[in-house]
Amino acid sequence: MSIDWEKEVAHRSDELINDLTELVSIDSQRDIEHKTSDYPLGPGPVEALQTFLHFADRDGFETKNVDNLAGRIELGEGEDKDAIGILAHVDVVPGGPGWNTDPFDPVIKDGNLYARGAADDKGPGLASYYALKIIKELKLPTTKKVQLILGTDEESEWVGMNHYMEKETMPETGFSPDAEFPAINGEKGIVSFMINFPTPEAGLVKTFNAGIRPNMVPQNAEAELDLNFENIEAIKTAFNQFLNDNKDIKGNISTKNGTATVTVTGKGAHAMEPFNGINAATYLATFLNELELNDSQKLYFSFIANNLHLDFAGSKLGIQNTDDVMGELTMTPDIFVFNDSEANVLLNIRYPKGDTGETLTEKINAALPDGVTASIDGHNQLPHFVAADDPLVQALVGAYHDHTGDNTEPFTVGGGTYGRILKHGIAFGAMYPGDENVMHQPNEYINIDKLLKATAIYADAIYRLIK
Ligand code: ZN
Ligand code: ZN
Repeated sequence: MSIDWEKEVAHRSDELINDLTELVSIDSQRDIEHKTSDYPLGPGPVEALQTFLHFADRDGFETKNVDNLAGRIELGEGEDKDAIGILAHVDVVPGGPGWNTDPFDPVIKDGNLYARGAADDKGPGLASYYALKIIKELKLPTTKKVQLILGTDEESEWVGMNHYMEKETMPETGFSPDAEFPAINGEKGIVSFMINFPTPEAGLVKTFNAGIRPNMVPQNAEAELDLNFENIEAIKTAFNQFLNDNKDIKGNISTKNGTATVTVTGKGAHAMEPFNGINAATYLATFLNELELNDSQKLYFSFIANNLHLDFAGSKLGIQNTDDVMGELTMTPDIFVFNDSEANVLLNIRYPKGDTGETLTEKINAALPDGVTASIDGHNQLPHFVAADDPLVQALVGAYHDHTGDNTEPFTVGGGTYGRILKHGIAFGAMYPGDENVMHQPNEYINIDKLLKATAIYADAIYRLIK
């Protein structure tokens, strides 16, 4: 029997867009300041999870909410362990600055739906769900169970999925619709390091702050300067010269009560592709490093200027590494805190086969100045790989090819998607080759025609795995 997957999707497109609109209207960023026993990561992630599970209840699926931290939507019969797992997430990164519209009030314009989470990952997650819905509504015979498993903390610490793995049986094989077509069959290791500096002594720089997430290149940076230590005109002259020499950034100085506030705006980007962003913090630190600083301030700002600024490969930290399959190690400093009680930098690293958390810890500490130390912050995820000629990759990429005519080969990236949670898992869609990557960026959107196409690809691909 030949199934016209595109036609089946078209019959359900209005319903899909309605469901997506409802889902992206929920601000589901991690919000532990408002956590309760019922809302372990704050109310937003739970509301998004419950809303998604309600769609499936409405459509007659068996669902399970695992303690408001993760959820499951199930199709077919079989052992959980042998099921095909599809791992998506309902949490989002913060709206952040730079939007033309409200990030949680979706707008459809020129065929694109704009909202935080439209592309990462509510759109692709819902496309996978509609794929299951089509298979169910067509009453197609299946030989295996499929489980769509929803996490609520993918953008931070994966608390939701980790809880799921403690309480439930995670399938071994499957994919995560949270990246790109044709497929990502390998992901670099991911680890963050907290670099701690000695407590600064009072001087020109009172505070320096940038960054909101360890996996986002900071778009904005701000420093407060104490004008008892330097003349405002001298600072302004130097800053204007700096802006003139660095056309990629914008900047501003304002003064109030003896304090000058200096801001720099660059461009946010996902930490796995730091070269696509403009790190406002390393630019501002490079400027501050040119001013009259005391020793403790100099230690901090000269380190950023000389060892971190524009060095995405980590060569100045001595951690450069390249692998034939996975490519280069990348590095990006994403959170900066400097005030009268602490001074630190959070460094996010994506590393290929050949390194471990231990080797990186040794190399970084060897490169740090005296009195400065680095240690792993959060969890270290090792590199993950499934061969391109593996039957799973072949089935999924085959479906992609048959619906698009595109012969692009699967590839490896800086990670880290949920694909790596599955022993035998890859990431599959829903961005297409050549698409602008809008994940984690202001004005995130998903193209509706491409989303519907992705739904057809998912339905066909899943059915190839379970028929
Ligand atoms: Zn995602
Ligand atoms: Zn993301």
